[in-house]
Amino acid sequence: MDHAKLHDASVRCPHCGHRIHLAIDSSAGAQDYLDECRACGADIHLVMTVDEVFDRIVVRVRSDDENFY
Ligand SMILES: [Zn+2]
Repeated sequence: MDHAKLHDASVRCPHCGHRIHLAIDSSAGAQDYLDECRACGADIHLVMTVDEVFDRIVVRVRSDDENFY
């Protein structure tokens, strides 16, 4: 089973380190959204970008206390 626009991804919860599996729908392009950690219940800010050069999906976890300058 290989759906072209649905990708499996796993990220690590920045709060407790629990690994979370996601089904990423890349048809909408780059997006960011909130998910909830099933282990500790904390909100996780996920940032998904589509790398068109390598034809892959990149998912990053953005913690709210992270600073960007
Ligand atoms: Zn967690």
